[in-house]
Amino acid sequence: MFHSIAGKSAIVTGASKGIGRDIAHALVAPGVRITLVARSTADLEKARTHILAAHPDAALRIASCDVADRDAMQAMVDGAADAQGGLDILCANAGIYPQTAIEALSVTEWDGVMVVNARSSFIAVKAAQPHPRARGQGRIILTSFITGPATGLQGWSHYGASKVAQLGFMRSAALELARDNVTINAVLPGNIPTEGLGGNGSEYREAVEAAIPLGRLGTIEGVANAVLFLASNEAAYITAQQIIVGGGQIVPESLETMAWSGGGS
Ligand code: NAP
Repeated sequence: MFHSIAGKSAIVTGASKGIGRDIAHALVAPGVRITLVARSTADLEKARTHILAAHPDAALRIASCDVADRDAMQAMVDGAADAQGGLDILCANAGIYPQTAIEALSVTEWDGVMVVNARSSFIAVKAAQPHPRARGQGRIILTSFITGPATGLQGWSHYGASKVAQLGFMRSAALELARDNVTINAVLPGNIPTEGLGGNGSEYREAVEAAIPLGRLGTIEGVANAVLFLASNEAAYITAQQIIVGGGQIVPESLETMAWSGGGS
């Protein structure tokens, strides 16, 4: 699928687990060379081993880096571009999602979520920008979320705000990047079971599934495939757009309307 990107060079942040690891998995399949980024080197090694088990010939580097650290990100991006012969694709995926009601939410926690989720998009794009510019083409894909841009959830006021901020950044960045033939788009996953979401329990899972028209939580592979498409040559004329990978989760007006089967009275 999308073999047009064979031989390209990519960075995926938040790639040691969850959605980021599967984005990397999807990109190596057609032959993209990748630097996997997260803070934990041990988790990065595990992710690399996991991907190599399926793709033994994959060109995979790992780089321990905090996406909130501007200087470290610049050094990481430049190192990846040096090692991989340039940079074509940036997947800014790393994120955190603590759930805290406003009453208990501290300014420190608010700022921490905004820094890791929103400011990091700016830092990653700023660090990467010279490399695709030198190529005369490139792809940037941000991982946002439905909470904030399309829905709300108790305890995620800061998280939702950070995911909206990514999209506001994306739209203006798209105009600047377009001059260099670089596109920037976002995927907005619905609720996807990952290590990070694992603590929410079966009651939460059942409640979420009941609100999804397709009747099930999404898969990380589904999100990764949307990213793969946006990274491909086939998506060359798409920029400043968002793709919701959510099984129709944001569409129903109410849970009651989902129960309607189409019969007359
Ligand atoms: P996850 O399983 O918790 O994995 C998070 C990844 O981000 C890990 O690799 C983690 O590694 C890395 N990370 C966290 N903070 C970082 C930092 N400061 N610097 C560098 N790397 C950092 O998360 P996930 O569920 O896959 O979520 C990934 C993205 O998808 C996030 O942006 C999240 O908001 C979004 N998302 C998730 C869902 C969902 O339902 N799971 C839905 C919509 C959107 P280290 O801790 O080692 O750094």
